Amino acid sequence: MDLGITGKVALVTAASKGLGRAVAEELAAEGASLVLCARTDATLQATCTAIRAATGARVLGVAADVANPADVARLVQAALAEFGQVDILVTNAGGPPAGTFEQHDAAAWDAATRLLLSSVVELTRAVLPGMQARGWGRILNITSIAVKQPVAGLMLSNSLRAAVTGMARTLATEVAASGVTVNNILPGYTRTERVEHLASAAATRDNISPEQATERWTSEIPMRRLGEPREFAALAAFLCSERASYITGTSTAVDGGWLRGLY
Ligand code: NAD
Repeated sequence: MDLGITGKVALVTAASKGLGRAVAEELAAEGASLVLCARTDATLQATCTAIRAATGARVLGVAADVANPADVARLVQAALAEFGQVDILVTNAGGPPAGTFEQHDAAAWDAATRLLLSSVVELTRAVLPGMQARGWGRILNITSIAVKQPVAGLMLSNSLRAAVTGMARTLATEVAASGVTVNNILPGYTRTERVEHLASAAATRDNISPEQATERWTSEIPMRRLGEPREFAALAAFLCSERASYITGTSTAVDGGWLRGLY
């Protein structure tokens, strides 16, 4: 299937590793030009170099923290200076700290709100007017299966990703007639550094090994394995494509069957 995004410009945030990087790789393989961000320039530039080498795509890397509105503004300005427009926005960020309600103070809630919710609002605000003016745009938010079934011990993630989902569903309706789609993609347990970190945290908390923590998760997954970032990126690229032109307002999981609800 030709996804029809050759020459489109995609801005993917938090993309030096993990899910963001996998989505960037898939979009580049489909012919899109990329603007990528992460906080650490050296890691980011290494990723940009690897994607250029693998796909021949034009890739701009801008070191930026999506939790910082000034960085978001600088990132979008750099994208527009290099490519003139942003057609596809994939919002992603690092995960917030794990913990229960009692373990998070007001500062932790503020920081997580800036990281997970305000970043999506600011990025969307910056690129949406251009998409609407051109009559074509794709906004895809990477959230989590936690928006459909909260995960124990991830209070901040469970709460703030639900807020992103409500914002995106409302925006999808508001902009649907202008050719811009807004969707969310929900990773289940996928093999990235973040998941290794969560396994270590769970192991320390419950006095088990990280391997045992991972096995506890895979025992809850009907496919009995973690997902691979490429499996996640395949759906992400489709939702960002011309071929997904009649799909908006959705929240779709890539989770090996972990979510048990009807939806
Ligand atoms: P990861 O830790 O492997 O990669 C995160 C990437 O984000 C890195 O490139 C990092 O440099 C970048 N980053 C982190 N904070 C940033 C910031 N403030 N500004 C800019 N860049 C930043 O994580 P991942 O597994 O790829 O997860 C991506 C997102 O998906 C996270 O929010 C995570 O909580 C969520 N998620 C992941 C899984 C999973 O199983 N992997 C499941 C559910 C949700």
